[in-house]
Amino acid sequence: MSVSSAQREELERLLERYMTERGLKSTRQRSLIIDLFFDMHGHLSVEDVWSRVRQDDPRVSVATVYRTMKLLSEAGLAHARNFGDGQTRFEPAVGREHHDHLICTRCGTIIEFENDQIERMQDAVARRHGFKVTSHKMELYGLCKNCQK
Ligand SMILES: [Zn+2]
Ligand SMILES: [Zn+2]
Repeated sequence: MSVSSAQREELERLLERYMTERGLKSTRQRSLIIDLFFDMHGHLSVEDVWSRVRQDDPRVSVATVYRTMKLLSEAGLAHARNFGDGQTRFEPAVGREHHDHLICTRCGTIIEFENDQIERMQDAVARRHGFKVTSHKMELYGLCKNCQK
């Protein structure tokens, strides 16, 4: 699922505001990284994004990609995920419904799922404890269909 052009505009507005507030300048390299990231799919490590970016501009350093991804996640435009393999993976936070993940510990396949019933039960648990949930993530680890064979 890729980000629509309306969502892209919204995203650019949010990012611009975030950067202006912090006195950050948008650079050509940074814009390139952001453009490519939102065109890619899946749950991407800095290395994944970097190798895509280098096809367009070999001068971009991995440190610049790292800082840009950090910026996107601080601005709330990307989710930084940690699936237990020591790699931080990023996925767009705009243009997506909330979803959770099944992670195969053998081959690394990541399956996304949404389940209204689980969401409602989480809300009920929180309510029972007088707890206000601001975010959550559910990650189920195990073996995918292929790896069970
Ligand atoms: Zn697997
Ligand atoms: Zn996901």
